[in-house]
Amino acid sequence: IEQSYIMIKPDGVQRGLVGEIISRFEKKGFLLKGLKLFQCPKELAQEHYKDLNERPFFPKLIEYITSGPVVCMAWEGAGVVASARKLIGATNPLQAEPGTIRGDLAVQTGRNVIHGSDSPDNGKREIALWFKEGELA
Ligand code: ATP
Ligand code: MG
Repeated sequence: IEQSYIMIKPDGVQRGLVGEIISRFEKKGFLLKGLKLFQCPKELAQEHYKDLNERPFFPKLIEYITSGPVVCMAWEGAGVVASARKLIGATNPLQAEPGTIRGDLAVQTGRNVIHGSDSPDNGKREIALWFKEGELA
């Protein structure tokens, strides 16, 4: 079954948005398979976002993701990857539709509250990267 790696970024945790965000995925009907609060080491952030490592904002992105604890989640369900991207909204929160997480809760691309896998293959890759086997239901 398809799984997506969803992560509440440090600004979402600091701003007290964890319950609100988890609630949206629960109400949608996806199945929670993994959940933890975690201080991400720099090397893991770099590996997670390795496809972006040539981009000018990469160092700032790594600094952002490692600036405080994140909430790591594995969500499961048919079509969960694309559906989660819809729930999350566009990368730039000012372009994200109202009703989406970023559209409702954020204003800056560099502080956009949440990550969601962009393909089922990356969902698998990222869940394996962020979770140990015994941490998943
Ligand atoms: P994510 O992978 O975190 O779910 P995304 O898939 O919507 O976000 P990506 O293109 O994968 O967007 O970029 C990863 C993250 O890098 C963005 O969510 C954002 O935090 C940051 N980012 C992307 N573009 C920029 C930019 N131009 N300036 C600053 N930060 C950026
Ligand atoms: Mg992405």
